[in-house]
Amino acid sequence: HLTAEIISIGDEMISGARLDTNTAWLSRRLAELGVEVHFHSTVGDTLAHNVDVFRIAVQRADLVIATGGLGPTQDDLTREAIAESIGVPLQFDPDSLAHIEALFSRRGREMPERNRSQAMFPVGATPIFNPQGTAPGVDIVASRADGTTSRIFALPGVPAEMKTMFDETVGPAILSGGQGGQFIRHSVMKFFGVGESEMEARLGDMISRTRQPRVGITVSAATISLRISATADHVAKCESMIAATREDIMERVGELYFGDGETFEQQHAVDAILRRRKERLCVVELGHAAPLGNWFAAIGDSPVLAGGLSLVGLDELRRFAGSEHADATLQECIETVRQRFSAEWLLLVDAYPDLHQLEQNAIPESSITFSVSHPDGRWTSKTESIGGHPSIVHPRIAKAGLRYLR
Ligand code: ATP
Ligand code: MG
Repeated sequence: HLTAEIISIGDEMISGARLDTNTAWLSRRLAELGVEVHFHSTVGDTLAHNVDVFRIAVQRADLVIATGGLGPTQDDLTREAIAESIGVPLQFDPDSLAHIEALFSRRGREMPERNRSQAMFPVGATPIFNPQGTAPGVDIVASRADGTTSRIFALPGVPAEMKTMFDETVGPAILSGGQGGQFIRHSVMKFFGVGESEMEARLGDMISRTRQPRVGITVSAATISLRISATADHVAKCESMIAATREDIMERVGELYFGDGETFEQQHAVDAILRRRKERLCVVELGHAAPLGNWFAAIGDSPVLAGGLSLVGLDELRRFAGSEHADATLQECIETVRQRFSAEWLLLVDAYPDLHQLEQNAIPESSITFSVSHPDGRWTSKTESIGGHPSIVHPRIAKAGLRYLR
């Protein structure tokens, strides 16, 4: 595996004044190219510190990607630091100077003398073309004492310039570098219905850290994500490994699966099921808050959500259903409301004492009744005990709804 270290340069990162977004972006890109990032280093605008950081990085990584410090000012020291760390002088590059001068003249300005420094490169370096700004990047191979090498790419700090130069020049150079580029592909599957430990038990050795492809497990509120990561020398190989692993997973826990992708939530699953069936859902929430309606609505405009009602209690529901329902049963009231919304499904959430108090965390444990009504006469009702925190309340409610729908 090709390994990399990313170096982010600038006092603004060290002081905390600016968040280092370049490193996060580069890490994701490098992973896509099959490069294993082993280190992130951050260093201020001090020459001696920069020299140290480059010396160390060259010893422990095949690729060193640096961002920042390529500007024309006094505190832009990356070119100097690289030259000093590998023990070569800086040399003037006329082509780069011509590019910088042309950029200024296109803007109708004369190039300030200090921009000349941006045309200075460590001997042996290849300038990396910067289509958006003045600072060319630096591409240079550094040798180690044992005869092996490390390749340094230095890019500007400006995120837009850095990204363009990486995608146009650095990425392709890494892939064609003949250094055994590996590819990584990911796939995320979502599940609900059991806790993390039961999930782990059922997956068994599939989540072993030494397995290939790797299967990682993360839990957020009531959903479990399995992230499959396959590494191979070919994208097609990664994809067939992922397909095989997905099949294994479905064999073990398929009935808990509800969708794919990092951002696919239970509301999306409900939405997809109902769209496929051309059916609609309305929600009635008894209690002082309407978290379920809001939660569903968070996926944006959806033709499957016919509407929602938030009522304080049963009496109010009776009133809403109409005066002729003064003595009606809960089920009869619900049926009237469902028809009024022209929805096939009605999900009733009867929360007592009430969800508002639950959201305030005033009650650590309470019970909620879910009832689902459907025109074919199905009527299910179930009481569940739920924890008090909203991040648990919402998915647990949706989870119950989803269980009834499918
Ligand atoms: P320039 O040619 O613009 O001078 P440079 O290579 O000298 O480029 P810097 O001066 O270090 O880059 O940074 C330019 C801009 O990019 C600044 O606004 C800086 O805060 C931002 N920047 C630098 N490094 C990062 C980073 N790692 N993540 C996010 N933003 C960054
Ligand atoms: Mg800077």
